Amino acid sequence: MLKVRTEGEGRFPGIHKGLHCRMCGSLSGMALAQHYGDEFRSLGGEVKMGAEVAYVELSEGEHMFAPWADVKALSVVCSTGERFPAKEVLFACGAWSHQILSRIGIFSGVLPKKRQLFGIKLGDPSSVLEGLEPDKVPAVILPAGGTYIKPMLKKGMMLVGLADELGQPFGMADPDPDPDYFETAVRPVLSHYLPGLKDYELKLKWAGYYAYHWPDKNPVVERVANIYWASGTSGSGIMKADALGRVAASKVLGLKEAELFDGSRIHVDDLSLRDRNVEMERFVI
Ligand SMILES: Cc1cc2nc3c(=O)[nH]c(=O)nc-3n(C[C@H](O)[C@H](O)[C@H](O)COP(=O)(O)OP(=O)(O)OC[C@H]3O[C@@H](n4cnc5c(N)ncnc54)[C@H](O)[C@@H]3O)c2cc1C
Repeated sequence: MLKVRTEGEGRFPGIHKGLHCRMCGSLSGMALAQHYGDEFRSLGGEVKMGAEVAYVELSEGEHMFAPWADVKALSVVCSTGERFPAKEVLFACGAWSHQILSRIGIFSGVLPKKRQLFGIKLGDPSSVLEGLEPDKVPAVILPAGGTYIKPMLKKGMMLVGLADELGQPFGMADPDPDPDYFETAVRPVLSHYLPGLKDYELKLKWAGYYAYHWPDKNPVVERVANIYWASGTSGSGIMKADALGRVAASKVLGLKEAELFDGSRIHVDDLSLRDRNVEMERFVI
């Protein structure tokens, strides 16, 4: 384990119990994407990299059509001018869903918010270690704002993330990681809960976007005409990819239910905007 202080103080709650999830692990997102790409190709699909969708070509032109007109997507057109005609179009463009779909008058129900991850280099990894081997220390979620730590102590590193809410705008205006955020939000949490952690340096920083559907933070699978979208993964889309893909595929095929990996079944429209039927996702960090 990490040597964690359990007493609370000020805005940092005390730790009364810890839950150890024995079945948890970590996986490579890149390897998973590669796997899905290979599977898709083996079914006869074609994967095109670097193809940026510039716009969706609608059957009645861009706008000013009568509300009763039978408007649908004819194709997606890439910034290179290449055109991909389709009977049905599914957008799985994560945090970019709003940017792409709002342009053609679709409210995706999903908005992006910047999220950051920091990598610190430890002078002496043993200063935070309690008992176990450095490569057997599990990831930890602390009670302060859901700060999560992924120790990589064999490499003398720890990854730390913490999601801010009020004050962090929805949108994609500022894609760069912000070291000031590390100082004001992350460093105080580390100082409180890991008192042994004194000698370290901020070495790496990344920023990306979570795709949120408010208020329940569960994914959205919806359709307008022949345009479908699957998004709203709230920062756990790697874990949810398999289930979400199955629901999206069922939706496009016009099925009412999807079968998940473990054999359980889900009503496809439970994830829609119109007939939504989900609980609030509370485990969002
Ligand atoms: C800091 C951080 C940490 C995270 N940690 C975890 C984690 O531990 N576990 C987990 O499960 N998830 C995690 N996530 C979330 C996870 O990365 C996402 O939920 C997941 O990638 C969503 O998958 P997606 O396929 O829906 O969208 P994305 O992976 O975002 O893919 C969308 C793709 O659409 C492309 N695109 C956008 N616009 C266009 C366009 N006009 N034309 C063509 N392509 C376009 C984008 O380039 C992108 O490649 C994390 C996210 C962040 C930011």
